[in-house]
Amino acid sequence: MIIDCHGHYTTAPKQLETWRKNQIAALSDPANVPSKGTLSIANDEIRESLEGAQLKFQRERGTDVTIFSPRASVMGHHVGDATTSLHWSQHCNDMIHRVCTLYPDNFVGVCQLPQSPGTSLDNSIAELERCVNEFGFIGCNLNPDPSGGSWNSPALSDKYWYPFYEKMVELDVPAMVHVSGSCHPGFHTTGTYYINADTTAFMQFLTSDLFKDFPTLRFIIPHGGGAAPYHWGRYRGLAQDMKRPPLEESLLKNVYFDTCVYHLPGIELLLKVVPIDNILFGSEMVGAVRGIDPRTGNYYDDTKKYLDALPLSETDRHKLFEGNARKVYPRLAKSGIAKKLKEKATS
Ligand SMILES: [Zn+2]
Repeated sequence: MIIDCHGHYTTAPKQLETWRKNQIAALSDPANVPSKGTLSIANDEIRESLEGAQLKFQRERGTDVTIFSPRASVMGHHVGDATTSLHWSQHCNDMIHRVCTLYPDNFVGVCQLPQSPGTSLDNSIAELERCVNEFGFIGCNLNPDPSGGSWNSPALSDKYWYPFYEKMVELDVPAMVHVSGSCHPGFHTTGTYYINADTTAFMQFLTSDLFKDFPTLRFIIPHGGGAAPYHWGRYRGLAQDMKRPPLEESLLKNVYFDTCVYHLPGIELLLKVVPIDNILFGSEMVGAVRGIDPRTGNYYDDTKKYLDALPLSETDRHKLFEGNARKVYPRLAKSGIAKKLKEKATS
């Protein structure tokens, strides 16, 4: 069983984008009364949006299931106010639910949160509950910087986040740390901002006692953990200088990394540095980098190929492709893919 822990609905039918454009345009109209409204998209349009993209790649690359969430770069939590974010997030999550209902063997849902800078996390708590309890979603994407680049929200270790963490623990779901689009033209969204945010989250965890307060809280730091694995010595050394516990003790029981690193040497380094128990297979397809590497003739984001090229033991392979995902996302076993998971387990 091969579980890809990181996929976004980047190919959703145009109506979703149009709804969002209209929502943003209405923000400057004083007569506008915000409402969720409706979105008219046929099942066939959803099928069409996936058949030539995510489903095609699943088949070609030999992966079984994608843990699927709304397109991250357009979450745009800084746009409008809390209500703006709530309506948009609900539509995006409704779409993921429809995808998972149409293709229960291929996708399992993770939700976008209706975060809004400077507001409480009450809406995010309610939306997480809706998506987990009503839709069978198994996790969420948590934005550490809903401002889109100003970094004016409290650090992830701050008590501000605690009510949300309590809900995550209660529902037994993890969060992928995931920013949205960058509002600063000097910070490229996927090339700079994403990687910076991943690294920032890692350091926030390292310098805090968050996991003493929440021993079962789990985060996935995507994009291979940003710069953290490459600079592992720096982080170990900083922890030591700050009289912090070793990384194994302070965060490796709670923090995981995906394999969205788009070349073999990067994957080799990740696996050499980070314990195998902390790495989940992920590809982020169809997402940040969509081209073919002329040096290999393969898609950059076909990350399974890099792992297949390594001399991994069967035990390690199983952890990477299935075991660790089942551990981090225990609700996988109760989700729409539970049956397939049972049939294909350890094969
Ligand atoms: Zn992503």
